Amino acid sequence: MNDCLFCKIIAGEIPSEKVYEDDQVTAFRDINPVAPTHILIIPNKHIASINELTSDDETLVGHLFTTARDLAKQEGISESGYRLIINVGPDGGQVIYHLHLHLIGGQKMRHPMG
Ligand code: 5GP
Ligand code: ZN
Repeated sequence: MNDCLFCKIIAGEIPSEKVYEDDQVTAFRDINPVAPTHILIIPNKHIASINELTSDDETLVGHLFTTARDLAKQEGISESGYRLIINVGPDGGQVIYHLHLHLIGGQKMRHPMG
């Protein structure tokens, strides 16, 4: 956990453009955005991935999603639409092992499953 990039971002040890934070979650802009809006929403508690979730985390996971909804509204993309993505493990394309929800929008995206 000491070496976790996103834990360092939460602690303010690594700079980021934070757009929201409360006692449970932190949201900041992705350093390499793939669309005009690309925000990462993460639990303040270190959870490596969806695989490490426990039933105690269910409220927290719900809060990640309601925060994403609120930020989509704040970004003005609620009606035009957006994508919420959680990558899990190597085949899922997860690079940072601190659970994060990608909020991506502001442009039309192709459907990833054809
Ligand atoms: P993953 O592939 O693990 O789902 O996504 C990791 C995301 O973290 C990538 O979209 C990447 O651009 C973003 N990222 C990696 N390092 C940093 C950083 O230092 N700051 C910010 N804001 N985003 C980062
Ligand atoms: Zn972490």
